[in-house]
Amino acid sequence: AKPIAGVKGTNSERTFIAIKPDGTQRGLVGKVITRFEERGYKLVGLKAIAPSKEMAEKHYDDLKARPFFGGLVKYISSGTPVIAMVWEGKDVIKQGRAMIGATNPLDASPGSIRGQYCISVGRNIIHGSDCFEAAEKEIGLWFGKAGELIEWTPANVEWVQSDN
Ligand code: GDP
Ligand code: MG
Repeated sequence: AKPIAGVKGTNSERTFIAIKPDGTQRGLVGKVITRFEERGYKLVGLKAIAPSKEMAEKHYDDLKARPFFGGLVKYISSGTPVIAMVWEGKDVIKQGRAMIGATNPLDASPGSIRGQYCISVGRNIIHGSDCFEAAEKEIGLWFGKAGELIEWTPANVEWVQSDN
């Protein structure tokens, strides 16, 4: 089987994308998924999960010293579903971050997801892994069980991807 985050720099690179509770509450799930689908990326894992406080803390453990950490954990573990996804394709980690836009939506370009749908850093609707090591950690945390990620070939692959 393929490594959990695929192989960095190849067509099999993977990233962890999550629609946060505000994105779910606001009915933006379909719009976010559509952007990744239409760009040409492949969905290899998807589930709705209401994360525990411990899960939220693990996901954001690099931010535990920040003053907003408590509020962030409460927001993510509110009980509203987080839509956890793994997307695969060339340069998906960096491109996913660009599609999402800056952390503070007021700095995000208007064409990005945050730039189109939000105005508050504390309610910025979506998460994306910021590097390959983060993708490995996050995919492992949210999709730990074998069989949750599916290897498949989209019918349109030759019309989306050409390697020469
Ligand atoms: P991201 O990778 O763009 O999501 O940004 P970070 O990894 O720096 O922060 C993770 C998340 O913490 C952000 O997406 C926000 O939800 C939240 N966050 C970051 N900075 C702030 C802040 O200054 N205030 C609040 N309330 N939340 C923040
Ligand atoms: Mg981050």
